[in-house]
Amino acid sequence: TKHFPVRRKLRDLFSNRKDAVHAVDDVNLTLRRGRVVALVGESGSGKSTIARLLAQLYPRTGGDIQLHGESTRVKGGAAFRRYCSRVQMIFQDPFASLNPTHTIRYHLTRSLKIHDNAGKSAADLDRALHELLQQVQLTPPERYLDKFPHELSGGQRQRVAIARALGAHPEALLADEPVSMLDVSIRLGVLNLLRDLRDRLNLAILYITHDIASARYFADETMVMYAGRMVEGGDSETVTQSPAHPYTKLLISSAPDPDRLAGGSDGAAGDAGNGEPPSLIHPPSGCRFHPRCPAAMDRCRTDLPVPLQIGDAPGHWAACWLYDGNEKAEVAK
Ligand code: SF4
Ligand code: MG
Repeated sequence: TKHFPVRRKLRDLFSNRKDAVHAVDDVNLTLRRGRVVALVGESGSGKSTIARLLAQLYPRTGGDIQLHGESTRVKGGAAFRRYCSRVQMIFQDPFASLNPTHTIRYHLTRSLKIHDNAGKSAADLDRALHELLQQVQLTPPERYLDKFPHELSGGQRQRVAIARALGAHPEALLADEPVSMLDVSIRLGVLNLLRDLRDRLNLAILYITHDIASARYFADETMVMYAGRMVEGGDSETVTQSPAHPYTKLLISSAPDPDRLAGGSDGAAGDAGNGEPPSLIHPPSGCRFHPRCPAAMDRCRTDLPVPLQIGDAPGHWAACWLYDGNEKAEVAK
């Protein structure tokens, strides 16, 4: 695969009135073209913050975001602008992300023009509009171009939002819970479309979800977040079939039904039982999961776990003291 090295080490500090909040800390993430990376966790774990940081919608207080090894640290600089056009975001609520007073033609034309992809003539623009709608399987395009968002279903609106992102000719899509507000019956179709676009357009996709079952289905690689930190990562098959971190095990055991692309709005189905996610204002000391962890040991309360290689699976790691010394320990489920 061609590399799409969006590499970063982010340390993000939000201030609210009283305290500074580390919304995400020590996050390292690399997206590559032709690959889907899932970021899985409960609501409040920092997933959406990462998407917004990567979309340069939030200012970051530390770390860096790079495109092909080039830093985007200088806001408004050439590298920053290049990054913003090549990395496009798809939001959870397709209704809120489209302007209700404008047609589909308007939304898509605007995207093509902003990114200088509209061509020179009216015929070029028309061709480009048709191609965008065909790419998201809204055909025949004439049926959709002059409609308003409210005339479309939720799934069709999300396809328009994807088409608008494609108008930028992006290298990467950041998809924040792109199907969690859609009917269960059409989620699979939208995920399959994104997978098809990954292959045909060689896109890098970051798929943010609270639903680990859908990550297994859709993503090449899965990273699990807890309380603003990455706790486990590896290829999706390994992480979901042989999870190492006690939190990942909890997420999998509380997933409602692995055969269904899990339901509910953000924070419902994917929320693991056994306690609440901790406050990010005063996160627990040591391992942030220790108050909920069935395997917690003394050192877990004081020492922050470092990522440790798990077993022989290449690239499988977990930040958990059970694996200190590279020995695969058993954890009671
Ligand atoms: Fe549990 Fe300790 Fe591992 Fe944290 S480091 S997940 S508390 S065993
Ligand atoms: Mg969210």
